[in-house]
Amino acid sequence: MSITLIVPTVFRRHTDDQNEVHLEAGTVKEALDLLVARYPDVGRSIYSSAGRLRNFINVYVNEEDVRYADGEETRLEDGDRVLLVPAVAGGSLEEQPFSPESFARYSRHLIIPEVGVEGQRRLRDAKVLIVGAGGLGTPAATYLAAAGVGKIGLVDFDRVERSNLHRQVLYSEADIGRPKVQVAKRRLESVNPLITIDPLEVRLDSSNALEVVSQYDVVVDGTDNFPTRYLVNDACVLLHRPNVYASIFRFEGQASVFCAKDGPCYRCLYPEPPPAGVVPSCAEGGVLGVLPGIMGAVQASQVVNIILGKGTPLIGRLLLFDSLHSTFETLRLRKAPECPACGENPTIRGLIDYEAFCGVEPGATEFDISPDELKRKLDSGERLVLLDVREPFEYEICHLPGAKLIPLGELRARVNQLDTSDEIVVNCLSGVRSTQGAALLTEVGFRKVRNLAGGLRAWANDVDPTLQIY
Ligand SMILES: [Zn+2]
Repeated sequence: MSITLIVPTVFRRHTDDQNEVHLEAGTVKEALDLLVARYPDVGRSIYSSAGRLRNFINVYVNEEDVRYADGEETRLEDGDRVLLVPAVAGGSLEEQPFSPESFARYSRHLIIPEVGVEGQRRLRDAKVLIVGAGGLGTPAATYLAAAGVGKIGLVDFDRVERSNLHRQVLYSEADIGRPKVQVAKRRLESVNPLITIDPLEVRLDSSNALEVVSQYDVVVDGTDNFPTRYLVNDACVLLHRPNVYASIFRFEGQASVFCAKDGPCYRCLYPEPPPAGVVPSCAEGGVLGVLPGIMGAVQASQVVNIILGKGTPLIGRLLLFDSLHSTFETLRLRKAPECPACGENPTIRGLIDYEAFCGVEPGATEFDISPDELKRKLDSGERLVLLDVREPFEYEICHLPGAKLIPLGELRARVNQLDTSDEIVVNCLSGVRSTQGAALLTEVGFRKVRNLAGGLRAWANDVDPTLQIY
């Protein structure tokens, strides 16, 4: 039978650094005899002077411990892999030897030369922080948990919503309304009970980010907003942590690894955020459900590379994936000497106010009106024009009674259909497009313009739960 014998790292000095040996053998004993005949020093390590296999050596055939089969008489078949696994392999393994359960679970890793027992130990000892348990964070967390990353911190303060389920496949219908990190912890620990998930049900901000990030070795940026993205970047630069980045919009994804010691950071790429409202979020612009699954898995593979210290992570490169046209591209990124975070004369020496930096001040724009306030005005019979700036197909799904539809893209050309003497309340789905619409109307001379804060989502939440939200 043609079999492959995998040599553990500790014995490779006796095998001319060969990590695997191909042999013709019918039983485990025959395989070991042939190995010892070829490399006598291995024999002195694995056999006692009485010729018995030392009891700190376990032998596995594929993923089965031969002690639970026929021991050294266990028969081999073509293609079998025989693993020699010393129960004690030095370092922290001495304190915490891998259990037979671990060997079975990670057997497909252990037989990859780039991983092996040493790599699996590194994964077990690693601590990874995932910011955002959404479209990117859940696939990244699922693969990292399955791969055996010993400690995974998950930061998110959202609860599961029905509109999450088309892409956040860790959650189910029964989880709607429950805190994401609690559901994720339960699911991930059922995938792999050998690891620990830390559920961090907080909003990451300047007051807590350094303390949280400092407790982990690698950070996965799975955020969906600019303030948190800059916050994560700056915290990682200040604390010298690799920042595994991805972002998604509709059919397009980006990924990179920002590791300021060896390459650029997010601010080298984008020194400043776009003005608030210019780049729509996934909630506003949509995202193909499968895309974050792919990009989150890319992030997980980057994390594994970094932990193992193998391969070529995306440091100094930006991976672009277009799922509509089925293309992957990689662009070169350069470290910006003038970068305020990681450049030659950095000006960012601590965390700042990221909401203000990104021009996001929720609920603070001068023309905002809350759903409750609008309801009171409508109930009191006040004369208002409700202006909906979404697209016609969205208007068909739901709209406020009597709302006039002018999509944002047509608003400037159609302002003559509105009367400057009317009080106009602009709305959209979540309040982003309507903020731009209200600003546009103000710019062209309308004085009595208000913006429905939080859009129809907030209206459905606070006033009318029967409104069909999407
Ligand atoms: Zn930088």
